[in-house]
Amino acid sequence: MQQTLSIIKPDAVKKNVIGKIIDIFESNDLEINQMKKIKLSSENVAQFYAEHKNRPFFTNLKDYMTSGDVVIIVLEGENAIIKNRTLMGATNPKEAETGTIRQRFATDISQNAVHGSDSETSAKREIDFFFPKI
Ligand code: ATP
Ligand code: MG
Repeated sequence: MQQTLSIIKPDAVKKNVIGKIIDIFESNDLEINQMKKIKLSSENVAQFYAEHKNRPFFTNLKDYMTSGDVVIIVLEGENAIIKNRTLMGATNPKEAETGTIRQRFATDISQNAVHGSDSETSAKREIDFFFPKI
């Protein structure tokens, strides 16, 4: 079994499709291990997306990710990391395959409904970031 971190981003929360997105995970044998709905601070986003801090869209990304509540989910299942990335679809919803979460629910390339860890290393870092072991 593998774990990965998913975030349902503010645009999708505002569209009231949390349940529809979770249904896609559960229908594809991903189980919810931990979950919480929170509002991120600018500092949270800067730390979480540190790899993107020099990208031209970074200020926009911080404004977007702090614009409303997000749902943080630890998903668990066989090949959870790649499975979640496949279910999400491409970063740009215009390029996302039909039926993927981003094709169905994203607004555009910057407001793209969900985040998913992209490797075992980032999954571990991201899960520890939002659900530190006590
Ligand atoms: P995420 O890390 O959120 O799962 P991703 O791995 O598909 O998305 P990244 O390249 O890591 O894509 O980009 C992180 C986030 O930054 C994207 O999900 C999107 O919200 C935003 N972003 C990425 N590229 C662009 C861009 N060219 N213009 C605007 N926003 C962008
Ligand atoms: Mg990424």
